[in-house]
Amino acid sequence: MTKIARDGSNVTDADWKFRQNASNFARQGYAIRGLLNASLLARATDGETTVGDITGSVVCLDKDASARPGFVVSASGQIGLVCQSCGEAFEFPVDSQSVVHVARDEAELASWEDEAFESIGGDEKTSALELVEDELLLAIPYVPRCEKCEAMGEDAPVSREFS
Ligand SMILES: [Zn+2]
Repeated sequence: MTKIARDGSNVTDADWKFRQNASNFARQGYAIRGLLNASLLARATDGETTVGDITGSVVCLDKDASARPGFVVSASGQIGLVCQSCGEAFEFPVDSQSVVHVARDEAELASWEDEAFESIGGDEKTSALELVEDELLLAIPYVPRCEKCEAMGEDAPVSREFS
């Protein structure tokens, strides 16, 4: 029996780290939400990146509202980055969410290859923590730039990946 953490319950680190088939995150009623402290988010804190408390969630898609099973993963909070232009540390707000559709099998997953949405195989093992961490990593700019350097814009030596 898989553990389901609902709103208001005490979500533990073990709940976040619990690895299971991705299809379980798409099961009706699944929801996990809460604060993830920096010690859990080791993968996001390598190099010069630091994280404060990040609020994360993984919530199943309502089967009546979505043609395909799946879940919504979100990450929000503050991360600390170092500007690649001036070398100053700065705070970067993250508020990101993605819908991930869960395929029944390899064939279905392959048939979605050209679709714009994100997808994962139902038997792929993952944890709510890994999903939130991936979402967080996606939100971090490839070339971090502080607001001041970002505002200087065009003449800056590195290309703008994010506007
Ligand atoms: Zn800068």
